[in-house]
Formats: sequence, structure tokens, C-alpha cells
Amino acid sequence: MHTTLPVTRLQQNCRILSVADKAVIVDPGGDAAKIAAELEFFAFKPQAILLTHAHVDHCGAVAELVQRYPKLKVLGPQQDDAIALEMAQLQGECFQVPFSGPFTPQWLNNGEILRLLPDHPIEVLHTPGHSKGSVCYYIRNAGLMLVGDLLVQGGIWARKQPGFDRKALMASLARLKTYPDDTQLLFGHGPNSFLGKEKQDNPYLAQA
Ligand SMILES: [Zn+2]
Repeated sequence: MHTTLPVTRLQQNCRILSVADKAVIVDPGGDAAKIAAELEFFAFKPQAILLTHAHVDHCGAVAELVQRYPKLKVLGPQQDDAIALEMAQLQGECFQVPFSGPFTPQWLNNGEILRLLPDHPIEVLHTPGHSKGSVCYYIRNAGLMLVGDLLVQGGIWARKQPGFDRKALMASLARLKTYPDDTQLLFGHGPNSFLGKEKQDNPYLAQA
């Protein structure tokens, strides 16, 4: 159901979620050719790009992929990331992560259900903190939660970047804790984990 392709210098985890021949691409931060090779090798029909937030290492390859697959929809994050998206080019220059060009996403709202993959509705949670418009994607039927940079295994990701909000982050983590313990967490950076394990091992989640 999910494949991980680490992309960019920052090794951001781009994910390809697939059911039968349908696929969605989550957070294509860079290396569009690598992502396209994976789609073509398995003959996937890409339905959409989903973004957890608008930092460049998560969205740098969007424009290039849309050029390759003109029918691709670009969905998310929540619209409070509009400023972050405007800054993505500049952020890319600072972090040496190429930004392949501007694009206009369809912003998503908390509670929206996306029907892009057969039998696997994708639920949108607005989870600000890491950035204002950050979202998580929950796929109940697969027990998966794509959390972007809300947290990582055993900790949280960057701290003092523009848009960071400690209070909002803690509220989002508290909300995450209400999901089943056997939910697999797919992070924007580093190895995967499970919510139950993180509740024990992750001191930030413990405080929330
Ligand atoms: Zn980020």
C-alpha cells in the first residue's frame, strides 16, 4: 500500500500510496524523475499529489510532476500555509533544495474525506504547529497516518522555523493521541513508528 522514496538533500520521505493501479503521491519534495520512475515501473495511474505542508522539501517537485502528468490534482495543505508556499522558492535557496516552480493547490479543510483510492478513503486532519496549515492524512482502512513534520520517531522535527507554534503543536499532538495505538505513523523524516510506541517513547507526545 505504501512505498517510501527519500528525496532531496534532506532525505524527506516522499510516499506513494497505491491500491490496485491507482496511486497518490504524498509530499514530492524533489527528485521528480525518481518518483516518476517508480510510478512508471509499476504502471501506476497517479490520481493526485497530497501535501502535508508547504515547506520546500515537501513540495519542491510538484510543478515538475504536474508538467509530466497534467491531469494530477494538487491537494492540501490547509490554506494557512499560503505564506509558507509563497516562501518556498526562497526557502529552497537557503536549504539547497530546488523548487521546480509555483503551483496553485486546492486547499483542504479539517474533516474532509478524499476518495482517490478504491476502498481507502483518506481523512484530512488540520494539525498546525510545525507550520500553520499542516495537515495529517489518516487512512483508517489501512491503519496509516501520514503526519508530515508534526513529529518524528522519538521527538519532533525542526523547531524555530517561521510558522512554528508550540501551543498549536501540543494541541495537535494531543489530538493525534486519540487515534488507535496500532496506527502506523509515517513521518516526513526518518523511520516509521506506531502511535502506541510513540506514546511511550516520545517525550513530546507524552507531554501533550
Ligand atoms: Zn517542514
